[in-house]
Amino acid sequence: MNPALPQLGKLADTCIHCGLCLPACPTYAELGSEPDSPRGRIYLMRALIEGRQPATPDVLVHLDRCLGCRACETACPSGVRYGRLLEGVRGALAEPRRRLGVRTLFWRPILRQVMPDRRRFRILVAPLRLLARGDRQWLPPALRRAVDALPPADPLGAPARSQGGNPAPLAAPGLGPFVPARGSRRGTAGFLTGCVMPALFPHVNAAAVRLLAAAGYDVVIPQEPTCCGALQAHDGDLAGAERAAARIRAAFAGCDIVVTNSAGCGAAMKDDPDAGFAGRVRDLSEALCEADWWPDRPLEGIRAVFHDPCHLRHGQRITAQPRELLRRAGLLLAEASESDVCCGGAGSYTLLQPALSTALMTRKIANLTASDPEILVTANPSCLMQLRAGLADRAEPPALFHIAEVLAQTLVSTPA
Ligand code: SF4
Ligand code: SF4
Repeated sequence: MNPALPQLGKLADTCIHCGLCLPACPTYAELGSEPDSPRGRIYLMRALIEGRQPATPDVLVHLDRCLGCRACETACPSGVRYGRLLEGVRGALAEPRRRLGVRTLFWRPILRQVMPDRRRFRILVAPLRLLARGDRQWLPPALRRAVDALPPADPLGAPARSQGGNPAPLAAPGLGPFVPARGSRRGTAGFLTGCVMPALFPHVNAAAVRLLAAAGYDVVIPQEPTCCGALQAHDGDLAGAERAAARIRAAFAGCDIVVTNSAGCGAAMKDDPDAGFAGRVRDLSEALCEADWWPDRPLEGIRAVFHDPCHLRHGQRITAQPRELLRRAGLLLAEASESDVCCGGAGSYTLLQPALSTALMTRKIANLTASDPEILVTANPSCLMQLRAGLADRAEPPALFHIAEVLAQTLVSTPA
């Protein structure tokens, strides 16, 4: 018997089957079937844990359809730790899961071996960038989707997105290992560059570091390691996730706080078993609010909608801070319907569950654009890519930004 199973059984036993989580679950909303709801999945996981149900593909498909968005945790009155249960069961069932379909067999090595390594990830992205230059309509749907999700290689050259008074994409200087605080010093912030951000959104990382320095932090930026282990954990590779987490703990040992601008990384690091480390982790918006950061020169009158990443809203219960900061920055914020519902990005979900992911993306884009905003703002690379793919076919899409890019536009001067 897998020694993790009794502990997982205790997590599953906290569910009282009330069903209050069902309306919050995006896959239940799309598919309407109990096995694709949180309650149904917990029932299946308990049966697997207790050995009453073999891990057949028919059963595992319901677990694989789960986004891991943790909206069910926010809705649950019984405190079920669904995310931890799901990751644990996926880890315990690693062997049978490997016998799943061709799509999973193709993508899993990429998710586990390539994406967490920024050098390998850059090599993976290079041919996609070449494809992005050509006529995309001839590409197979999955490949076209991946190409559509890519941010511009040179955000400074992004066409027309910076016109009309909207914030312009910022330059992306290479980040050195240290940036000093501007003005009076609050402490030392370690900044996690992440696996995906340096290759796809280096300007976002640069903006986040400028903001932390402007808020009074000396910013320490380890060049390695970059991976917090979230991708591996979501896929059930718990040993790989713990190896990555141990390297991160060591790299940030001397920092007062550890800051990330990726909601998924923040949620994973705040779940770290080392409470001393987890308690120092901050999302960028949290760190700036705690430091009572205010813009030097607010932007004015830009109509905007903030998209809550699930790992910010449900994984970290952060909703007020990004909105507060965007209002301070001068934006006119509107609220979208279903702001608590996942966009379907969910890390690897777009690759492994393309049909469901696309359905959720279409629904999210309709909600986000209903108020005709000039810009959409979010706080996670996976969401940025999903929304970008969702806007790709629009004639005049709203511009899309990470919150760090928008806030950094309000800085008058930046540290050297
Ligand atoms: S994590 Fe999200 S998709 Fe999975 S069961 Fe919970 S609400 Fe549904
Ligand atoms: S809301 Fe919580 S206790 Fe109720 S069915 Fe969902 S997971 Fe179980």
